[in-house]
Amino acid sequence: MTLFEIFDPKAAPRPIGIDLGTTNSLVARVRDGRPVVIADCDGGKLVPSAVHYDESGRVVVGAEALKLAASSPRDTIVSAKRFMGRGADDPETRRLGTYDFAAPATPEEAKSVRFVVHGRVVTPVEVSAEILRRLRTNAEDELKTVGGVVITVPAYFDDGQRQATKDAGRLAGLEVLRLLNEPTAAALAYGLEKRQNGLFAVYDLGGGTFDVTVLLLDDGVFQVKSTGGDSALGGDDMDRALAHRLLEAMGAGASPGHELVRVALDAARATKHALTDRTELDLELPTRGGGTTSVRVTRDELDALIAPIVERTGVACRRALRDAGVKAADLDGVILVGGSTRVPYVRSYVQELFGKEPLGDIDPDEVVALGAAIQADILAGSREHASDVLLLDVLPLSLGLETMGGVVEKLLPRNTTIPTGARQTFTTYADHQTGFDLHVVQGERELAADCRSLARFVLKGIPPMPAGMARLEVTFRVDADGLLAVGAKEITTGVEQKVEVKPSYGLGDEEVEAMLLAALEHGEEDLASRRLIEERVEADRILAATRKALASDADLLEPGERERIETAVAELAEVARGTKPALIHARVEGLDHATHAWAGRRMDRAIATAIAGKQVRDVETDVAGAQGLDAHLAAHHGDG
Ligand code: ADP
Ligand code: MG
Repeated sequence: MTLFEIFDPKAAPRPIGIDLGTTNSLVARVRDGRPVVIADCDGGKLVPSAVHYDESGRVVVGAEALKLAASSPRDTIVSAKRFMGRGADDPETRRLGTYDFAAPATPEEAKSVRFVVHGRVVTPVEVSAEILRRLRTNAEDELKTVGGVVITVPAYFDDGQRQATKDAGRLAGLEVLRLLNEPTAAALAYGLEKRQNGLFAVYDLGGGTFDVTVLLLDDGVFQVKSTGGDSALGGDDMDRALAHRLLEAMGAGASPGHELVRVALDAARATKHALTDRTELDLELPTRGGGTTSVRVTRDELDALIAPIVERTGVACRRALRDAGVKAADLDGVILVGGSTRVPYVRSYVQELFGKEPLGDIDPDEVVALGAAIQADILAGSREHASDVLLLDVLPLSLGLETMGGVVEKLLPRNTTIPTGARQTFTTYADHQTGFDLHVVQGERELAADCRSLARFVLKGIPPMPAGMARLEVTFRVDADGLLAVGAKEITTGVEQKVEVKPSYGLGDEEVEAMLLAALEHGEEDLASRRLIEERVEADRILAATRKALASDADLLEPGERERIETAVAELAEVARGTKPALIHARVEGLDHATHAWAGRRMDRAIATAIAGKQVRDVETDVAGAQGLDAHLAAHHGDG
């Protein structure tokens, strides 16, 4: 008998969710209202995130590639996710890789790490695309046509890393509906949005990374309150700790050699997995001398070996709680994610740390992919029950503009919920300024030089106007995927420009971490230098404006007024280049005071003149508007 598989040719393409992990990746979909993982063609559910390139140009993905990594590590890329969005000269690139890297020949090439595998150059985006292609094929085997995909990313991924992930999806021929934060995906898999309100921590211990996230569910809307973790902490560290102990038993000595280390690591991982369900295991291991030895490993021994590793997660958890401004007791639930949370010791540690039993009944390997599938299903409009699950993520670092003196004006502070936007008006600092230099930066420090430069552009073609008259409205928009678009418009003339900021790849979680730490460490120092710069800019501005006014409006001075003003000018000029912000500030106020009455008379005359051609109301708003501005963008000294 022949069985025909019948399917509706009009059946809509099915959306899928993908967990693109550092160690393992997997794909899931919703079937009959429930999310399920789609198995790999080799039968397993997890596809190891490993890609091997052989001399004939063949690409091998998954478990088979991982096996080949033992014999040809340089031609097998593992943990490509760690390199996503990183530049060639990124210090992390060197630290992470035992790979051969191609030297960049152009600035464009320098934006991404490039591996050399069997004479071929590939980028992390291409490597990830190979993994995604494999998952797509698996999904197509089951669904025939795949509609769109939701791919998950760590909550701390920055613009560049998110863009790189999207690019990988497109390269794999997938329509990326949305990127979704991994912890939010896990919360969706547990259906927590049905509770409407609550505060949750997501504890994700994978192969090589640890992430912790505090999520707030507010009237059915998820918000990431804080994220933290350690990008060099995970199950691999447990394997190494146990392997050391096994190598001792194998009599390996100080330099055991590549082969023996490999054997010990493989045995350690298998032992660790086995000890999840039993309390002891007997192993037969090769010895250095060529014989074999038997070793018994108990769960207690494993626990003792991994305790220092697991305890390091506690530091990050406490910090994440502090960042979110909450206490462990405020949490309504803790979710376990990542293969390493199967380890019983990890579970009990988490329970003790947070003071409540964590949610762990969904397979921690699958939970993120299942949540992604649910989100894809909602976005594709095929899910009737989950009305509108709104997912809100946050900016990992503040976004701002460089203003006069190199000071950063933050338009969107860190941890702002996205999608979001901000608008701010700036004015010209110098007379007849015909352009603005706009420098968009990301980071917590007060000075642009200490932040990460995202984009520079110039707004030109503004007609010459007196200082303070041109009004530049800058808008920042961050979309649901965390990508930033910047617009700038000079209001009086309507001159306008927009840029999509696709930051050069190259900022990793460790740098985000480092930048946050630096901001904390340098906080006071930064504020002091910011204050000094601002006072100096203000001093220069008021000095220039006063000198100019003395030249044009001297006829409005009353007896003795000029002397008082000139004294104040001299006093301010004397300290304006100094290092005491409070002193500069006091003298600025002195000059302000000395010119106050005269400024009023000048204003009256300016309005009287302006009224000749305009309505009073317009003039008043102009004046008010110009006075309300406090930040000045750097003058652009180019053309007009
Ligand atoms: P990632 O998110 O980094 O891709 P995973 O969540 O897939 O990583 O976790 C992989 C880690 O989980 C590996 O270190 C693996 O050894 C560990 N792991 C998987 N199953 C078990 C188990 N039963 N017991 C202990 N550790 C496990
Ligand atoms: Mg993971």
